[in-house]
Amino acid sequence: MATLTNRAKPVSRKPMNWVERIYLWNILKGMLITLGHIFKKKATINYPEQKRPFSPVFRGLHILNRDEEGRERCTACGLCAVACPAEAITMEAAERLPSEEHLYREEKYAARYEINMLRCIFCGLCEEACPKDAIYLSETFAPADFSRRSFIYGKPDLLIPDPKTEPEKFQEAKGLVDQRKKSKA
Ligand code: SF4
Ligand code: SF4
Repeated sequence: MATLTNRAKPVSRKPMNWVERIYLWNILKGMLITLGHIFKKKATINYPEQKRPFSPVFRGLHILNRDEEGRERCTACGLCAVACPAEAITMEAAERLPSEEHLYREEKYAARYEINMLRCIFCGLCEEACPKDAIYLSETFAPADFSRRSFIYGKPDLLIPDPKTEPEKFQEAKGLVDQRKKSKA
C-alpha cells in the first residue's frame, strides 16, 4: 500500500497487561513532569497587580495630542485617515473662531474625530502620516467591552489631558512616546 510519508508508525493493537491497565507508571510520569515545573521560574505574573514593562516600540491606544499651551494640535487635514489601511478613522473639520484660539492651534480643527478600535490593526501609520504631531499610539490597551459601539473612540476618549491644568496626567499619557521618537531619530 502506498504511504504519504515514511514517518507513519503502525498503531499497536496489543492488549494491555495488568501493569499497563492500572496506569501507575503513566501517573508517575505525569507527576514527575509536574514536580519538575514546581522548581522552574514562573512564566506567569499576577496581572493586574503586576505588569510587564512594554517594549519602547509597543503601539497601543491612540492619543490626540495637545501643544504645550493645551491647544489641540489636530488640523483635520485627513492624512491619517488616508494613510489608515483599515479605514478606521473618521473626522469632520470645522473652522476655528477668533474666540477659540486658545483651544485649537490651527485655523481648522477636528470637530469630530473617531477611531473604530475594532477595525484598527495598531500599525502606527496614522502616527507616521501626521504632519502636526497630533496623534500617536500610547502603551495602553483598548479595554475590553461588551458592545461594538463602545469601541468607537471619539475625541473625549482620545484627547490627552491638558498640560496646563493636569500636567501629571499629561506626562503619564505621553508615556514612552518621546522615547520611541528618539529611538527612531
Ligand atoms: S494604527 Fe493603523 S489601523 Fe489603526 S487607526 Fe492608525 S493607521 Fe489605522
Ligand atoms: S491627526 Fe494629524 S494627520 Fe490626522 S487629521 Fe489631525 S493633523 Fe491631520
